[in-house]
Amino acid sequence: MGISNITEKVVVITGASSGVGESTARLLAGKGAKVALGARRKDRIDALVRDITDKGGSALGFKTDVTMRGDVEALVKGAVDRHGRIDVIVNNAGIMPIAPMAALKVEEWDRMIDVNIKGLLYGVAAVLPIMQKQKQGHIINIASVAGFKVFAPGGTVYSATKFAVRALTEGLRMEHKADNIRSTVISPAAIATDLPEGSSEEATRKDLREFYKIAIPADSIARAIAYAIEQPADVEIDEVVIRPTALDF
Ligand code: NDP
Repeated sequence: MGISNITEKVVVITGASSGVGESTARLLAGKGAKVALGARRKDRIDALVRDITDKGGSALGFKTDVTMRGDVEALVKGAVDRHGRIDVIVNNAGIMPIAPMAALKVEEWDRMIDVNIKGLLYGVAAVLPIMQKQKQGHIINIASVAGFKVFAPGGTVYSATKFAVRALTEGLRMEHKADNIRSTVISPAAIATDLPEGSSEEATRKDLREFYKIAIPADSIARAIAYAIEQPADVEIDEVVIRPTALDF
């Protein structure tokens, strides 16, 4: 385990039970970070924590539904109670149920807004006072290329949530320079995870499986997150966009 700017950092990750969050937890813990992991599937979080600690890493696990502000506060408090500070939060939890607007999947619209926007804001709210007091911190938000281009038909509401993530991250960057808080937005495309399985129509899931044939591993996003974290404190990576080389979207 080499010493880097990641070693000993206290990093909270939401949505750590699979995909990008899990991969990031493994990579950062392997580099010596102390990770605090939250998601709803506590069995998967527990297994991940065991795996990281068996390998000599430091990990705490929490049952966290990011749509519940109290859960997100408990996750952050758990990390601070154990380690005395928080250096980084990766607001990663997200869902992508795809459907045309005319299908009026209003409950799915609500859920996307609740998880992708409000859940992320609860993460910001939980860490901001602590980071302001510390006069240091790093907020990393996971958006999407669908936050640059509207992915329609089907991804209109998902895109709207990811445009919001980019706007929120840019605003945080502008508002918290004086607090020495870094803000980074990472925008992936077509990463091989369970995300496209979240659509309610089987035909849509089938189309997405076709589209995701060129998908790249979650580890490619984890490496970008690690790169942003390991910069010297006066260097802020603001935006990273990562696509499969073969993707034209
Ligand atoms: P996964 O489906 O593998 O991971 C999503 C994670 O979010 C899971 O750990 C899930 O955990 C968690 N999650 C969902 N709802 C909640 C909730 N209410 N509370 C807490 N956690 C929740 O997909 P990815 O790893 O691909 O997704 C990670 C991020 O990357 C998302 O923000 C996604 O939008 C973004 N992204 C992904 C792309 C891709 O192609 N895969 C492309 C662009 C962006 P659990 O169900 O256990 O709660």
